[in-house]
Amino acid sequence: MQITKLICPTSKYAIKCPFLMTPEGITVHNTANDASAMAEASYMLGNNNQVSVHSFVDDTRVVEAIEQYRNAWANGDGVNGFGNRKTISVEICYSKSGGERFDKAENLAAEYIASLLKKYGWGIDKVKKHQDWNGKYCPHRTLDLGWQRFLNKVQSYLGTTSAPVNNSKGGADQILRVGSIVRIDKTLTVTGVNAKSNLIAIQELTGTPTSSIHWFDPTNFDVVEGPKKAQQVCTVGCKVKLKGNYKVLGLVKTEDWACKLKIGNRTNWVWTNPCYEVQD
Ligand SMILES: [Zn+2]
Repeated sequence: MQITKLICPTSKYAIKCPFLMTPEGITVHNTANDASAMAEASYMLGNNNQVSVHSFVDDTRVVEAIEQYRNAWANGDGVNGFGNRKTISVEICYSKSGGERFDKAENLAAEYIASLLKKYGWGIDKVKKHQDWNGKYCPHRTLDLGWQRFLNKVQSYLGTTSAPVNNSKGGADQILRVGSIVRIDKTLTVTGVNAKSNLIAIQELTGTPTSSIHWFDPTNFDVVEGPKKAQQVCTVGCKVKLKGNYKVLGLVKTEDWACKLKIGNRTNWVWTNPCYEVQD
């Protein structure tokens, strides 16, 4: 099972997932749309609507977009609703037109949900439908085809599926390709400054700098905390954020996955872990 993890940036927690959550169940949805899981998740994380979903599943992969220890706004049952505050919401893609790719997405969702039941030590009774929380006819196509039929599918996977290995580092689980568009949304700490060349090092992005590919052109970074000096972008220890989106120019697996990005006037290799894919 291919699980791609997109991390909701903390800057969007207030909109998308403001509350900590200890999940007590799973809610199944259909997107009523014909977009892929990656497109749905990117759209959801990219807008500022108070609508959010933990995971999207299409015919080829699962995309996890909200941490399961935070709530999501998917169930229309209000700020304190059980659906919104206690359940992991899973959207099944391609339900608008249905057909073979929806059937495959539903199968993969059943496998994924079975793996979550195992992870949390739950039985099939923990699988709910959006309709249970506010009456909305969702998951519409899954209901048309038969809810019990879907539960039976989940049940059948319970016998064969093991709990997913949660690779929070992203890396191989995040399916970046050459040509993917990424951004790095976290606040970073400058760990080295070469004042003579006006370059900075950031350990979180590259590990300890060992060659020129690990030194960054500072012009694409905003200093968010700490003094900015005249001849250099900032001092060691100051906090910066990388502006803009970047195209992945290359990928390599060393001790972890790294990708090649052109940042300012330099080409750098950075870990894929802090990269957040905005376009597949
Ligand atoms: Zn729904």
